[in-house]
Amino acid sequence: MSTAHINPPTMNSSAGGATGLEVLEMGAARIRVDDKRIINCRADLNQLVPFKYKWAWQKYLDACANHWMPNEINMSADIALWKDPNGLTEDERMIIERNLGFFSTADSLVANNLVLAVYRHITNPECRQYLLRQAFEEALHTHAYQHVIESLGMDETKIFNMYREVPAVAHKAAWSLKYTQSLGDPNFETGTPENDRRLLRDLIAFYVIFEGIFFYVGFTQILSMGRRNKMTGTAEQLQYILRDESMHLNFGIDVINQIKIENPHLWSEDFKQEAIDMIRSGVDMEYAYSVDTMPRGILGMNSEMFKEYLQFIANRRCVQIGLPQQYPGATNPFPWMSEIMDLNKEKNFFETRVTEYQTGGALSWDDEE
Ligand code: FE
Repeated sequence: MSTAHINPPTMNSSAGGATGLEVLEMGAARIRVDDKRIINCRADLNQLVPFKYKWAWQKYLDACANHWMPNEINMSADIALWKDPNGLTEDERMIIERNLGFFSTADSLVANNLVLAVYRHITNPECRQYLLRQAFEEALHTHAYQHVIESLGMDETKIFNMYREVPAVAHKAAWSLKYTQSLGDPNFETGTPENDRRLLRDLIAFYVIFEGIFFYVGFTQILSMGRRNKMTGTAEQLQYILRDESMHLNFGIDVINQIKIENPHLWSEDFKQEAIDMIRSGVDMEYAYSVDTMPRGILGMNSEMFKEYLQFIANRRCVQIGLPQQYPGATNPFPWMSEIMDLNKEKNFFETRVTEYQTGGALSWDDEE
């Protein structure tokens, strides 16, 4: 990379600076692709083109093509079922409440991590363009949960406080918070191996584990209800959310892999082991969450099946970021989820090109049953 042609006094010399530009200098040299770097870039960050990371721009376009709004989804069948005293079992009600409790604050945690921690340190305009879109999608997801909670007439305070009051929900939230907090420190700057690894750690925590593992028990439980014609509006909301989440995850994996390519020294044996330990503890916490939300088997599922499912997903996450599989032989006990959960669309740039995103806003309803 060469930045020699850029006039140094016009550039923000602190790596990871907010815009890469302190003053506008008339006639400064134009940005070239080779000036761009995913972290610690010192070139002007206001020039979207020429593109270097075309996968990031493509994900921005794909995400915009998938636009939807939570209040467009009909909730009347859910309202009738929820209010019918014989409509759902106590176990089913607990699953719905606990999941709304986790998700209603989880997407807000992700949004705050993106906007207050990650955005400043990803020094590339096409990636930031996607981050802006992702931030809006996180707002839509929080809106969707609020819309469900309000539609069903639930105790909003109870649901929104579960992440502080229900241990299995709280553990996941507390685990993720410690990663975002260090980057949110206004004095934190990337540019040293130690701090660059801190950023990478936060990206793995939020994209690979929080969005890539912690959402999966809840999604599976609610979508399983939808398959049984229960809470179909809520299940449809989650299906739209899941489509967005698949792309968030893929974007995060592409960013992590790009940082590794440009900064191979960060990916040390110690750091790899740390990433493996994070993923393994994520699986353990999500398994605990499945036991907590589902003490008895219902809906054709039980916690032991979730353990295997989480191991299957974790193996995939490991491979996606270049780590060895941790649970050899784990298989998917919910093959129907492969269709609903968009696993086929879970492709990132470093595996293969995304070909399956559609250009309209609507979901395609492939009924595999
Ligand atoms: Fe997300």
